[in-house]
Amino acid sequence: MSGIIHIVTSFTELGLATPLLRALDEAGYTTPTPIQEQAIPLVLQGRDILGIAQTGTGKTAAFALPILHQLAAKGGRPPRGGSRVLVLSPTRELATQIADSFKSYGAHLGFSVTTVFGGVPHGGQRRALAAGIDVLVATPGRLLDHMAAGTARLDRVEVLVLDEADQMLDKGFLPAIRKLIPTLPKARQTLFFSATMPTEIGRLAGELLRDPARVEVAPVATTAERVAQRILHVETARKRLLLARLLKGESVGRTLVFARTKHGADRVVKQLAQDGLSANAIHGNKSQGQRERALQEFREGSAPILVATDIAARGIDVDNVTHVVQYDLPDVPESYVHRIGRTARAGASGEAVALVAAEELDKLWAVEKLIRTAIPAEDHRQDQSSPVARPVQTGRPAGRPQGKRDGHRGGGQGRGRSGAPRPQGQPGGQQRPAGSGAANQTRRRAMPAAVSEQTRSDRRWRDGDFRDGGGAKPGSRTQTWRVGGED
Ligand code: AMP
Repeated sequence: MSGIIHIVTSFTELGLATPLLRALDEAGYTTPTPIQEQAIPLVLQGRDILGIAQTGTGKTAAFALPILHQLAAKGGRPPRGGSRVLVLSPTRELATQIADSFKSYGAHLGFSVTTVFGGVPHGGQRRALAAGIDVLVATPGRLLDHMAAGTARLDRVEVLVLDEADQMLDKGFLPAIRKLIPTLPKARQTLFFSATMPTEIGRLAGELLRDPARVEVAPVATTAERVAQRILHVETARKRLLLARLLKGESVGRTLVFARTKHGADRVVKQLAQDGLSANAIHGNKSQGQRERALQEFREGSAPILVATDIAARGIDVDNVTHVVQYDLPDVPESYVHRIGRTARAGASGEAVALVAAEELDKLWAVEKLIRTAIPAEDHRQDQSSPVARPVQTGRPAGRPQGKRDGHRGGGQGRGRSGAPRPQGQPGGQQRPAGSGAANQTRRRAMPAAVSEQTRSDRRWRDGDFRDGGGAKPGSRTQTWRVGGED
């Protein structure tokens, strides 16, 4: 960090067209993420890109925005049977997310966006292809089927995006990709993204890219490492009580509470008011005026609790959020990382607590798999007669043999199916209790000393005080935000 002043660019400065800026504003994006800041100008210049970035870094917008900008600038119609842009994705879920992003960012541009993937009938895809598509997001296997049946052609593709290339390798899609590539025009722009660079992926990149600009950002896990995280297992019906205790019992500063839905956010605000806590909700149904007022009260501290949905929270540009509470877990595991990252802005660190009910355990395991960490957990359930379930270990995930993974993220020894490292003494494949209260403190992940120092000073922002967690000595690394008044 020595002496480098980083000036954050705005989307306007990146030179994006007005209809795109409008859509970004509606989506609540205020500031480009680092990968967007790096990649957008290069893509606009027509450069090929080799992007080393994971999901969760904003990489979809990093390619979707400049692609849409260029499509609009060039004009023209999509070719019958084919597309102008081809995005290859390893999974249907990712393909759907990418297509949704193109639709949302391009909402004021009117381009056609279609997905083509397996597991669904061919008919609809065939008809869409026949009409011509501006942006086609496809998994390689089904696209190859269409090519073989003569219902798709790629000879008019102007931009090719290969997303999550290392996942393509893992899923055995490399042969399909190698069959597709020669049918694309040589004169095209290629944007290649991968979280890791195993040898085979590096080789593929070398074959596909012409004089690529390399852009690289830290993996999302880096955020997760900076934040002291805790899971509180609790029944859905008791979340309200636990939240009020969390917020009342401590010297809690500016706190962002995440709710999955707009209704949920409103309900939490109402309940907090009944419990004597001043909070505002911020979500898509609130007017601009209401949002601004809520943000101002949050910044000033007159209503230091803001209850937000994921979408609305992206537009919140407030430093010194000391605590993040996830009232419910998000549907998409990456959102968990974005949520906790709100306490860790500008290199600061913070604390994040998630209230997890039994029906959310699948989501918790997906999060732990993503961040490759077993998050320290406490059992606040009223009925602790049965242990909190853990994912059943089924051995290594299917796919490439261990020896060939070659630097791939995730998997590996010492991890359960969730991908999270197993805590010592907890054999995989069995249910284990989440631990309860103080007994479980020992499993809390120790923060590196430098980080823990910073956390402590950050946390003093309101009244120069913070609570000692679970009987830890002052200054020890287990100091944390504790729930007051448990019954
Ligand atoms: P991705 O890495 O593309 O999967 O993006 C992760 C999440 O970040 C998605 O939910 C995006 O909608 C969101 N996102 C991407 N760029 C921004 C931005 N500049 N500001 C706020 N949220 C963003």
